[in-house]
Parts: sequence; C-alpha cells; structure tokens
Amino acid sequence: GFLSYTHNYQMSYIGNATVTRLRDELFASIQRQPLSFFDGEATGVLMSRLTYDVNLLQDAVTRVVTSFFKDTFTVIGLSAVIFYREWRLALMAMVVFPLAVLIIVYLGKRVRRISHATQVANAYLYTVLQESLIGQRIVKAFAREDYEEERFSRANWDYFRIRMKLNATRELSPPIMEALGSLGMAGIIFYGGYAVIQGTSTPGTFFSFLAALLMLYQPVKSLSSVQNVFQEGLAAAVRVFGLMDREPEIADAPGASTLLPLAQEIGYAGVSFAYDGRENVLHDISFTVRRGEVVALVGPSGAGKSTLLNLLPRFYEATGGAIMIDGHNIRAVTLASLRGQIGVVTQQTILFNDTVRHNIAYGRLTATEAEIVQALKDAHAHDFVMAMPQGLDTLIGEQGVRLSGGERQRLAIARALLKDPPILILDEATSSLDSESEREVQQALDRLIIGRTTLVIAHRLSTVRNADRIIAMEDGRIKEIGAHAELLAADGLYRRLYEMQFAREETAGSETDETGRQEALKSSLK
Ligand code: ATP
Repeated sequence: GFLSYTHNYQMSYIGNATVTRLRDELFASIQRQPLSFFDGEATGVLMSRLTYDVNLLQDAVTRVVTSFFKDTFTVIGLSAVIFYREWRLALMAMVVFPLAVLIIVYLGKRVRRISHATQVANAYLYTVLQESLIGQRIVKAFAREDYEEERFSRANWDYFRIRMKLNATRELSPPIMEALGSLGMAGIIFYGGYAVIQGTSTPGTFFSFLAALLMLYQPVKSLSSVQNVFQEGLAAAVRVFGLMDREPEIADAPGASTLLPLAQEIGYAGVSFAYDGRENVLHDISFTVRRGEVVALVGPSGAGKSTLLNLLPRFYEATGGAIMIDGHNIRAVTLASLRGQIGVVTQQTILFNDTVRHNIAYGRLTATEAEIVQALKDAHAHDFVMAMPQGLDTLIGEQGVRLSGGERQRLAIARALLKDPPILILDEATSSLDSESEREVQQALDRLIIGRTTLVIAHRLSTVRNADRIIAMEDGRIKEIGAHAELLAADGLYRRLYEMQFAREETAGSETDETGRQEALKSSLK
C-alpha cells in the first residue's frame, strides 16, 4: 500500500512536471515567433495546443512510464515461467499472439489518426469560443446570439462525435484481447487437462502453468490499451513539437551587434516587401529620416503605410533592399537593442487586463511611482486616473474596456513616454473622439514627439503641416517627398489627397472643432 501510494505520487509528479515544462517551452516558442506567424494561426488553435494537446501528452507520459515498463517486464518474466513449465502448452498459448499484435498495431494507427482529428476539432471549438467572446459587442449589436449559439453548438457536437469515434476505436482493444485470450485459454485447458488425465503431466505443473498464464492476462491487456494512449500522445507530440521546434524566422543574426541610440539617420534603401510570398505591396522604397525629424506618411487606404512602418522594428522582414540606422543594417543588430529604441503607438490601443500602474510600467518595468505619475501627467492622463476609484491601482478591464477611447489612447501614450524611445512610430487614430478628448490626445502626442525622431501615419491636417517632410505613397510606391507647401505647389498626389482629406479641416478650422467635424461630415456626404 505504501509503495503503491509512493509510486502513484511519483508518476503523477513526473506527468505533471513534464507537461508544465512543455507548456512553458511551448509558450516561449510561441512568443519568439514573428507577427507573420500570428497572421496565419488563429488564437484558438494556439490555445488548444497549449492545453488539450499538451494534456494528451501528459497521459501518454504517465501511462507509458508506469504501464509500459512494469507490464513489459511482467510479461517477459511470466512468459519465461510458462515456457519453463510446459513449452508445448506455452506455444499453444502463443498461437493467438501474432494475430493479437496485428490487431493492436492496426487499432493503434487508427487511434492516432482519429486523435489528430480530435485535436483539430478541439482547436476549432476554442477558435469559435474565443471569437465569440471577444466579439460580444458585435454579436449583440447585430443580435446574432442565436447564430453564435448554433455555430458553437455545431463545433461542440462535431467534437463530441469525433471523441466518440476515438473512444469506440480505443475501447475495442480490451474486448478483442479478452476474446482471443479466452480462445487460447480454452485450448490449453482442454489439451493440458487431457495430458493430466493421461498422466503425461502432473496436476502441479498444470496448475502452476495455468496460474502464470492467468497472471499474464492483465499486463497484456493493459499493454494493448497503453498502445492506444501512446498513439494519441504521438499525434499530440507531432503538433506540440512541430510548433516548439519552429525556428523563428526573425531572430538575431549570429554575431549581431548592439545598436546604439540613434545619432544620425534612419535610411530605407530600395526596400520591397511581400506578405507571405504573395505580390509585392512595397516597391523600391528609398528615403532617409534625420535624427529629430518628424516625417508624415500619407496615402490612400492600402497604399502600404502601415506595412512600411512595420518593417522598421522588424515586425516583418523586408524582402528586398535594406533598412539602415546610423549605417547599421537592422538585420545585423540584436532585436532587443533595435526594438528597445522604438516606441509604437498604434490606432488600436492594446492594453492589458491589469491595473493602470502595471499597464504604464509595461513601458519600463523598473520605473518608479514618481516616473509613472510624471508619464501620466505628460500624457494628460493624470487627472482622469486620479479620479478613478483606486487611482493607479484601478483595474481597467480586458483591453481597457472600462475606459473611453481617448483615455485608452492617453494611457498608451503614457506607456510610450515611460519607455522614452529615441524613435517613434505613430499611427494617428482615424476614429474621431469628441473635441475635448481629441485635444487632450493631441496635446499628449505633441508632448510625446518632442525630441524624438518620428514616423507618423497622418490623418490630421495639423500633423502634415507640422511635419518636417511628408511622404506621399500610392500602390506601395513613394510618389512624392517634401514639405507641405512644396508638395501642394507640385500639384501631384499630395495635393489630391490634401483636397480630399485635409482641406475640409482647413475650412472648418475657424469654427469650433465640433461644428467643424459636422461640417466636414456633411460635405463628405454631399
Ligand atoms: P490604411 O491607411 O487603410 O491602414 P495602409 O496604407 O496602412 O492602409 P497597409 O496596411 O500597409 O496599408 O496594407 C498594404 C497592403 O498589404 C494592402 O493591400 C493589404 O491588403 C495588405 N496587407 C496588410 N496587412 C497584411 C497581412 N498581415 N497579410 C497580408 N496582407 C496584408
């Protein structure tokens, strides 16, 4: 009793510790993957790998370690006993053996195939679940609760059916083994009993033979079912290790150097880019940004502005040409030193389900309370944070749902201020905030830009006007580069864009912001 308790405890320790480490390593491997990897994998699929697939491995590890070794030795030992006692009878008992092996192998392969299908079904179930939870606002807005219920239910029952198919196959091996075993046993009792009656064998030999044979029964049966668990584990291992062994496409080159803070300029030289081997979305992009400059990118939707900026922190790797910082190719420097210099403030503000304090400190984990407060003040976020029930320790909900759009943006700006990077990548929000909130965000952004080299995707007139230079893009190509007045005079792409996008703001400029926006909206509707 004591030993079997210890044994079971040890085994569960091994199983759990193994999967915990596996999960750690799998998570670390996922973290190292580039953004292109996440474009191709649904979040639900990755979550299912970390949970369902890894748990299948746990069963395989514990069962194989316990049962496989113990039972294999028992079978070998007892087989030796029965051969020693009565080799003729033993041979007879073994007649069914090849057939049993064939069946076990066949069922094992089938289990592995179906088990793979259960993993796919489980991953899909997670995907549906994750999407409908994240998208609740839209689900409700379109009153699609029934539709989502049905979609989930379909995935759920598909998963159920495939699980049942797996169980139906898995549970076949014990009864088949029993039936085959009984056949062998019947033959032995008949033949062995006959030999005892004839006096060619003794009852003692026969009974000891029979006892060993009966003892063989349980380990053989359990080995046959371990084979199924093992096959399920193998199917899971293929997926788990396939992901774990994936070399991140974007990583430090051997001998990568540390990039020092930007001193002179950032240069794009003949850069082209294609997503995932498709058509090029950027063609021959060349420009330089000097330290301290503010460069605004403008262009119609889909021109490639975001893509262009995503190449700088190596979120994606340029497919042609080179990006240089102070003469160093960004591929030849460490990712940490490159990204450590770049602050990113995107349109879609990503915050974590944590306190204000931790969200801001994400910019610099070692920041002191005073630094956090200063960042909040500079980002015009201090007042509203202090007005919240727990101040800095208020939980802001998933993605910051408990905050307004403008508040979320200001927190994101505070986070970037705390990081204090020399280079800034900004994507101005297009979604309109009310004028008060907009002004606050704008002031926070103006504060953020001071003293930094900034590349900004511009949606506001004031941004393009104040930029040192403007890059006008269309269809993945740079059409014009120059200052606002210069490009207006050139009467090209920028002027067209200006008339469509920014001129409205100019005419509305004399009015209050709010009426200006309404005017602009009306004129665009006309
Ligand atoms: P917008 O102003 O609308 O944000 P943009 O100028 O920033 O547009 P990009 O987002 O850079 O344009 O997109 C350029 C092209 O690349 C588009 O044709 C788009 O469909 C494609 N694209 C963008 N992101 C991806 C992606 N992750 N995978 C594949 N193609 C993409």
